[in-house]
Amino acid sequence: TDFGFKEVPWDEKQTLVGQVFSSVASSYDIMNDLMSGGLHRLWKDRLVETLRPFPGMKHLDVAGGTGDVAFRVLRALRQVELSAKSRPSMQSSTSSSTQLVPGSVVVCDINPSMLEEGKKKAEKEHDLKSDPGLSFEESNAENLQQFSDASFDSYTIAFGIRNVSDRAAALREAHRVLKPGGRFLCLEFSQVKQRGLKELYDMYSFNVIPRIGGIVANDSASYQYLVESIRTFPDQETFAQMMEEAGFKAVTFENHLSGIVAIHSGFKL
Ligand code: SAM
Repeated sequence: TDFGFKEVPWDEKQTLVGQVFSSVASSYDIMNDLMSGGLHRLWKDRLVETLRPFPGMKHLDVAGGTGDVAFRVLRALRQVELSAKSRPSMQSSTSSSTQLVPGSVVVCDINPSMLEEGKKKAEKEHDLKSDPGLSFEESNAENLQQFSDASFDSYTIAFGIRNVSDRAAALREAHRVLKPGGRFLCLEFSQVKQRGLKELYDMYSFNVIPRIGGIVANDSASYQYLVESIRTFPDQETFAQMMEEAGFKAVTFENHLSGIVAIHSGFKL
């Protein structure tokens, strides 16, 4: 079945995407585990490892959904801040009262239902609940109007950009809100080029995923859309070029599982 999402006008696509994520919000996390066999956790861990949070870092996670990536970033950030505090070399030699300003993480998403799930999750976790550096903002990746220019050290978008209608605008906005030296990282399903694996992957995604979606989330159409949106997403090289067109430098990407997912990286210089 071809949903023809490439052809639908942007405003229509945005409405469709909105419906899809409102519908899957409550089952989103469990579906992620089921569909990827838990692999999404490893990919997200790899994303945070690549990011290498540093003390005081101001981070923005766009299309952050239920906070899965943002919470990982925040926890890694608090960890490095804690070890920096205990290392004498990181403390000021002139004033013992100089304190490191703790970093922060903003979860940003266009869909209030996904953000609500994220807030509920954070409420249940003691460390997240009591962390003043964690916040949630409703916003479209294409227009991050509430954030000023050069206000973040880093920006992540995981399994989000393929749902965005105007991806070039989202990349320009990412570039705008980053400080000079800031890093952009995108984790996304990408194109599998290895013959054999590609056929197997297509078979799995077109037959199995919508069925799991039908059984677990009672919504096979939304999951059919998700699969379709992966197929129509630009390949690794094309996306890297789009990042360069938005102004990013030193653009690189790494494939995982032969390109089932890719992590793209770029800097604002
Ligand atoms: N990043 C999370 C993760 O990896 O678990 C959530 C990914 S989920 C597949 C995609 C998210 O993108 C949804 O929460 C959806 O609401 C959000 N989204 C779609 N279009 C968006 C846009 N234009 N701006 C911001 N978020 C958007």
